[in-house]
Amino acid sequence: MAGEPQADCLFCKIVAGEVPATIVRETETAVAFRDINPQAPTHVLVIPKVHFPDAASLAAGAPEVAADILRVAGEVAEKEDVTGSGYRIVFNTGAGAGQTVFHAHAHLLGGRGFNWPPG
Ligand code: 5GP
Repeated sequence: MAGEPQADCLFCKIVAGEVPATIVRETETAVAFRDINPQAPTHVLVIPKVHFPDAASLAAGAPEVAADILRVAGEVAEKEDVTGSGYRIVFNTGAGAGQTVFHAHAHLLGGRGFNWPPG
């Protein structure tokens, strides 16, 4: 069923506490934790507790939770003090765009400069 935990999903295991993570914020619907391979001084993943494979399916199936992900990302950016210098929120969607974990997640990246277009 849409949103149900998936046994083989790494981020469902982080939500369940079965895989350790450095959690920086947790709400009723979302968990934010540090990326294991940070690409910026601040690199936090914000994920829904429910399982959807990507951001678009999350937005279609649980739009209020998708909104929570953006709100939590903004709160973490404030807490990490990267709002002044600017930050980036990225949803890689599909393997061709670099998605490797198929549980919806926002990358919150900050604390350095960013180029456009992205690589
Ligand atoms: P994607 O490539 O799907 O957009 O992002 C997945 C992210 O998850 C990557 O940035 C990767 O470094 C991170 N990641 C993969 N495995 C783990 C893990 O076990 N713990 C944490 N904290 N991050 C992980």
